[in-house]
Order: sequence, then structure tokens, then C-alpha cells
Amino acid sequence: MRRHPDFAKTWETLVSSDLSSICEMALSRGDEPDTFVAEATDGRVEFRRIPDGGGYTYEVSSVDGRDLLVNRDASAFSPLSEELGSLFPPPERNHYPDAFETISQIFDDANAPDMAVVHSAAHNWEDRGGHRGEHGSIDVVQARAPMIFSGPGFRTGGFTDSGIRNVDVAPTLAAALGVSSRAGTRMDGTQGDVLLGRQDGNVVDDVLDPDGRPEHLVFFLMDGTNSNVLYQLIEDGRLPNIGALAQSGVTLSRGSTAAFPTITLANHTTMITGAYPGHHGILHNAYWDRQKGEEIVTNHPATWAMARSWMRRDVETLPEAVGRTWPGAFTACVNEPADRGAGYSTFDFFRRGEVPAIASPDTVPHANQRFVRPHKDYAWSVSVDHMGMEQACGIWSGHYRGTSYEAPKLMWVNFTLTDSAMHLGGPHSEVARSSIEECDARIGEILDCIRAAGAFDRTAFAVSADHGMEETNPEVTGDWNEVLRAAGIRYRDEAYGFIYLGV
Ligand SMILES: [Zn+2]
Repeated sequence: MRRHPDFAKTWETLVSSDLSSICEMALSRGDEPDTFVAEATDGRVEFRRIPDGGGYTYEVSSVDGRDLLVNRDASAFSPLSEELGSLFPPPERNHYPDAFETISQIFDDANAPDMAVVHSAAHNWEDRGGHRGEHGSIDVVQARAPMIFSGPGFRTGGFTDSGIRNVDVAPTLAAALGVSSRAGTRMDGTQGDVLLGRQDGNVVDDVLDPDGRPEHLVFFLMDGTNSNVLYQLIEDGRLPNIGALAQSGVTLSRGSTAAFPTITLANHTTMITGAYPGHHGILHNAYWDRQKGEEIVTNHPATWAMARSWMRRDVETLPEAVGRTWPGAFTACVNEPADRGAGYSTFDFFRRGEVPAIASPDTVPHANQRFVRPHKDYAWSVSVDHMGMEQACGIWSGHYRGTSYEAPKLMWVNFTLTDSAMHLGGPHSEVARSSIEECDARIGEILDCIRAAGAFDRTAFAVSADHGMEETNPEVTGDWNEVLRAAGIRYRDEAYGFIYLGV
């Protein structure tokens, strides 16, 4: 593989001891096809992937110094007491579930960066607002989202020692609903029989009840929710609505592992398509389009409504798969940018230029005014989530903003307050817990609307998040960009950590 002339110098700078407190490792393709490299100050690992019946197996080809990727336990630092006892784990004690698959997939896209930086668990990014909570790394706490399945089509059994990956979510939901299979592309790029057009993940049969079949499915995505914190609040009886869903269904202790980068829109798209970011086209919150020579910003209030236009055509969203199986079936995406194929979408209003009036966070129900008043991000997210609840309830009641709706076969509801609050105070703060309680109350209102529609017993539910959230250390600050610039390297850093050389 031909590398940019500045590659070696940039790589050496990133893995130098000067940056080791904030740069956990740098990632890149290897010299040979289907080889990949992870390197830190004290070690280097090269691995190879080998096609294996639709997927890949992975083989470490060389280790120099510390074996960076040897710890891959998705249950590390759980439950909550374990996480609190190991805040800011050093790299040699950190864990990276599905490391080989999640690292390699991102480099399949022609617009992948020359190298990607994985920031350390402790890194408090002043440039990003000095958040007390962060995500983006492949480490277990930042990657681990909660996962609860409940209702017809899913197993009962409560809290179980198990876990899935974000790529498995859409295939598993598709199987629960009874979506029909089709010819499509599998993880290794070969054709096969799949439930979604580009299916990297698997149907996780362990959570399915083969004797049950829901008529409707509602997915609640609580952006950026730390799974240990959510599970503890359920145990403490502070989440009556999510707790009731968990009680009557199955909760996965290892949750769902987000794909690299463990960032919002990359993983929303993964969850609703079953494809990795390197295969669905939404690589990160921003990336560089090498052919057009322009920056693509996907996750920004100004571009959310058009984000789906960068999704690759060969991926199939869950709403599209439902429409293919049951032509004319109604599907709804509430506050979800990865909404291709949905019969109703919040972002349709924006695409038509009908921007709704924003509800006042000072007066909407369930809003914790203790946090609304001082925090602009919290207040804005309260408004957004309240309006999402109104849309979901309106649709289930049969009427919203002058249009009539039938009961949706699939409804996907995205809540944003949890991400805002967990960034703001860190996942272990009172503001984070408050955001989860507010979210639980809004979910409760939607559940009541489904009951009022007489559909509750025939509806399946899933509660999850796009990624996790990890406590940062305010004493561990810094920015590799200062060091790269000082070294005279010409590059772009897209969305923090995707390094493109020579542009
Ligand atoms: Zn997110």
C-alpha cells in the first residue's frame, strides 16, 4: 500500500510519549491488503482478517512490546460498582470488545482517514467543552450501550449474562418482527441470504421467543446512556417505566457494543441498518470526501435533515425492510436522522421547511428545572425530547398536526437529553441520573398512549443507546492537533481523531 509521505512522521508523533496521556492508540491499515495496525507508545499490534463464510476471522500477525488489544472483555468494569472502582483505567488495564472487527471495518470506506486516533479513557477534551463525560473510543465503557428487549417475540428472564453488538440490533429486531429474507451483502462483501440489504451483524437468537410475534415494534434510543448507570437506576426502583419493560423482558448485562467510532450518527445508522460505519457511509460526525475534496458534516443541527443522503444505497434501513416485507405498512422515525424509508419522520418537516415552534423547557412536564435553568444544552434537549414524545403519542392516538395515522408497524424514537446531561456532568452525576428519570417519564407517556390505542399487548419494545459514556479526568487535557501542527504536518482532523494527510 502506498502511504502519504507524511505518514511516518505523523504516526510517530501520535504514538510518542508526549501524547500518551490523551492518545490511547493510533489505528491504520497495514502494508499488506486486509492487515491493520494499532500502535501506542509502549506497543504495536498488527492483525490480519480472513474471509470465513460471510464474515471474517482475525489473526494477530505480530506483536511488538505490549499487546494493545489483548483485553477484549465486554463485561469489564460492570456492574456500576466495578466501573466506579476503576475510573480512568490505564491502557494496559482497559478492554476493547470486538477490537479487530471494529477497527478493520472503518478502513473499508474509500473516505476512511489515513489514520484514526483513539483518545484515552481519561481524556477531558477542553476543545470539545471540557465535558465530564465522553465517548468515541473503542474502550468498553465508551462503547457499551444498555440493551433491553421486552414484549411478544422476545424472551423473558430479566437480567442475563449476555451481550450483543450494535450491528446485531437491526437484524435481531427484523427477525422478531418477521421481516422476510432477501439476497444481499454480508460482512465480508460476499452475497448471501440476509434480512437487511447490507448485513454485517447477526440475528441473536438467544433473545428471541420463537413462539411470539409482535404486531408492532417500538425502539427507544436514549443517546449516550451509560449501561451501568441505567441498570443501577432500574435496580433502585427509580425508573418505573423502563423498569417494567425490563421486568417483563430480558436485560443484557454486557449491553450492546457500539462500532468504532463510538459516535452518535455513525452508530444510529449502524443500529437501524445492521451495517458498520465503514460500510454504510456515515463514517463519523464529519469526514473528508476524498473524491470531491470537501468536508462532509453529518451530525450537526444544520445537516441532520440531509444526513441520510450520505448513507450508501446498498444498505437497507429497518423501515425499508419493513416496507419491503409488508408493502404499505406504516413506519415512523421520531427525532432520528437515519430515517430513510420511514412513512413519518420528524426530519420530513425540516426537509419541507416546516420548522415547528420549539416547546418551552420552562413549562413542559417532567423537566427538572434545577438543571433546565442553568444549562442551555439540557434545556434545549428537554424541548426536543418533549416534542418527540408529543409526536410519538400523537401518532399512536391516530392524529398529529392535522394528519391521521394508523398504528405503526415500527416506531423508532430517539431521545437526546441523556447524551447532553452525561456529557455535562459525567455519567455518574446527579444531572445524568435526572436525564434518565426524565426520559423514563416520557417513555411512560408513550407507553400510556400505546395502551390507550389498545396495542400494548401486541407491541414489542427495545431500549438501548447508540454508545456509552465514560467519566473523564479534568486533569488529563490536551490536544494532539497542537503537537501535529507544531511538527509542520499538513493534514485535516475531521470530527476529532480522523486524520487525513496532505489536505
Ligand atoms: Zn450519541
